[in-house]
Amino acid sequence: MVSADGEPEERMIEAALRPKSLDDFVGQRRVREQLSLVLEASRMRGRSADHVLLSGPPGLGKTTLAMIIAAEMNAPLRITSGPAIQHAGDLAAILSSLSEGEVLFLDEIHRMSRPAEEMLYMAMEDFRVDIVVGKGAGATAIPLDLPPFTLVGATTRAGLLPGPLRDRFGFTGHLEFYAVDELERVLRRSAGLMDLAVNSAGFAEIAMRSRGTPRIANRLLRRVRDWALVHGVDQIDSRAASAALDMYEVDARGLDRLDRAVLQALVGKFHGGPVGLSTLAIAVGEETETVETVAEPYLVREGLLGRTPRGRIAMPAAYEHLGIEPPAGYAA
Ligand code: ATP
Repeated sequence: MVSADGEPEERMIEAALRPKSLDDFVGQRRVREQLSLVLEASRMRGRSADHVLLSGPPGLGKTTLAMIIAAEMNAPLRITSGPAIQHAGDLAAILSSLSEGEVLFLDEIHRMSRPAEEMLYMAMEDFRVDIVVGKGAGATAIPLDLPPFTLVGATTRAGLLPGPLRDRFGFTGHLEFYAVDELERVLRRSAGLMDLAVNSAGFAEIAMRSRGTPRIANRLLRRVRDWALVHGVDQIDSRAASAALDMYEVDARGLDRLDRAVLQALVGKFHGGPVGLSTLAIAVGEETETVETVAEPYLVREGLLGRTPRGRIAMPAAYEHLGIEPPAGYAA
């Protein structure tokens, strides 16, 4: 369905479900409390907030938090991403057009080019950039003062950021996977906004299959809603939720196609490992970074996959989950 102004329905729902304030933001208690203090102190001083770095797996709420920071500071928000900034000039154009107090959200900050990164150091620390005009011996650097702004950087891999960049953030928050009861709260809020009748067992079933991730929880809720509509089910209970999610191949532990492919390759092709990350990624036909940042963190948290100095290994729970006997003499 497309709305009157041409926005696809899914995108409209996605925007409506995004929490708009820190109070609406479920879970991540530590980060929320710390951030709240940082913002409150900046407001009391009448200054823009310190730069904020948010790290953690995809879909845990980094973009949402950046939007909340701007809203709580009553400041405009500009959104860009590391891959979009390939030249220092791209960054200079953005920085020089910022207004006072603006929040600049830089997603996938670890994928920015090196020269842009160096320009960012100075901008973050001194609110200044040097614009280089000309080439070779005739090149001159023209200093340009910037208004105070708040950079919110997001990364799935904080370890990849160079030390000098990490050190320039006044606050770093690491987002963790959500507990099942927190995801139930996310789902209750979303179901309320979508006017959907789901009972407690139904929420619990969807939450358990959401991979600790609010974005996935909301997506599964929309799929269950479709299923209920087509099957004429008014009240979604655990049976309806599991029937719907089985159909979409989301298993009882929330593993999706990529998660299962990684485990199956590890067990089936590499006899449980150890196997190097890049070999494993080739075996499942995915980028190394996707396997490392999207699939692995959850598989490790669930005790299904282990990282060792010699490579990735399947844990006993992986064999159990796949319903496969571990090889004789297997000891993870
Ligand atoms: P990516 O880095 O992949 O863009 P992200 O970490 O920025 O992911 P968001 O886009 O902020 O993730 O969040 C995904 C969706 O999950 C949002 O649309 C929002 O509705 C929901 N969401 C995220 N965090 C929360 C939360 N704490 N409470 C309620 N809903 C949340």
